[in-house]
Amino acid sequence: METKSQTNTYLVCELYISPVRDRNEEKYGFNENQCICCKKPIKDIENSYWIHMNEGGYVLNNKIVTEENTESLTGYRSMGCFPIGNECAKKFKKEFLFKYNY
Ligand SMILES: [Zn+2]
Repeated sequence: METKSQTNTYLVCELYISPVRDRNEEKYGFNENQCICCKKPIKDIENSYWIHMNEGGYVLNNKIVTEENTESLTGYRSMGCFPIGNECAKKFKKEFLFKYNY
């Protein structure tokens, strides 16, 4: 992984890791709809926020980076999208978050 000084912080940001993540992982185990930041199950998945990540482990600016241009813009391939809970969503700038329109 590149160091932070080499990354373009406009295109990518670090994934927020909750201090209770390990505890929640033990408590809840693996769950399909769990917050990637804190491992807490997400009850209302249809209204949850999502983040798009690359294989370098960075969160991608949803306004600029798409599945198609992830590798050319950030140097890593897309790893897909992951749901996050409302509390953890507050740790990200809004351009790194999106919601699906069901
Ligand atoms: Zn969370």
